[in-house]
Amino acid sequence: MNTSYIVLDLEWNQGYEKTTKPEMPFEIIEIGAVKLDSERRAVDAFECSIRPRVYRTLHHMVKKVIRLKMEELRGAEPFPIVMKRFLKWCGRDYIFCTWGPQDLGELQRNMRYYGMKPLANGPLAFLDVQKLFSLDREDGKIRRSLESAVEMMDIEKGESFHRADSDAGYTAEILRIIGTEALEKHVSYDLFHLPPDRRHELKVRFDTYSKYVSREFPDKADALRDSEAKSLRCFVCNKDTKTALDWFTLNGRNYLGLGVCKEHGPMRGKLRLRKSDGGKHYVVKTIRPATREDEKTLKEQQQKAEQAEKKRELARKAEA
Ligand SMILES: [Zn+2]
Repeated sequence: MNTSYIVLDLEWNQGYEKTTKPEMPFEIIEIGAVKLDSERRAVDAFECSIRPRVYRTLHHMVKKVIRLKMEELRGAEPFPIVMKRFLKWCGRDYIFCTWGPQDLGELQRNMRYYGMKPLANGPLAFLDVQKLFSLDREDGKIRRSLESAVEMMDIEKGESFHRADSDAGYTAEILRIIGTEALEKHVSYDLFHLPPDRRHELKVRFDTYSKYVSREFPDKADALRDSEAKSLRCFVCNKDTKTALDWFTLNGRNYLGLGVCKEHGPMRGKLRLRKSDGGKHYVVKTIRPATREDEKTLKEQQQKAEQAEKKRELARKAEA
């Protein structure tokens, strides 16, 4: 594979309560990136400021964090021009890499605001370097600030943090030292663009679990009725399991379920109902092998859910 890595960092500005545009709460004012070749050697860098069009003053929180003055941005080019140049610079075969999961969503939101062609026709694969760092060097759960990770790895701190070019540089330094195994096994997906139809729904199998992201549904009930969304397939062979505990919920958003594969044993599923930007609903589902302990916990939780449902029903009857 000859994929290059585009390590990306964005700085953005925002409005105040009264001036915020919901279509673009965060306006990108700086793009910084480092290109690494397939061997993860740094081969090029990109840095560009952007002239704001929506928020004309720097929000005080932004001012506090990044050392930048509005005057410096006035001579810069507007977002669509910078973005086109940036994409050309990225080249053909690449994967975006960012510190944390936020940047690509905001990048695509800014692109949509200016009516630009979408980066992808659905979920966009990327590497979350913050998560990879945790998986490679720590417990996989902790999320460090970029600065704290840089300190931990004894990377020389030359430039200040919170400017797009320097943060992209530091992120690239960290990406270079992450073990190849973690890199290959843990691709993330940005869900700014959801699967447009059934055929493009996301189905990926990782080392210890499988993940599914559905297309959008007009309402929750439709999502929960969909045969694929509500299926609980074996993590190993992908065949339908025999239901042991049908999907139940403790909070109305996250559902849990248990199924048994004839060949590979019990599998537990977690199904999250999420709301998309456009107010529709979609499903993110993960399935992994279940231990005896998992089975026991799930049964207890299911009983709790059942009792809560009975209580609600009684309350409804009492009201009527
Ligand atoms: Zn199986």
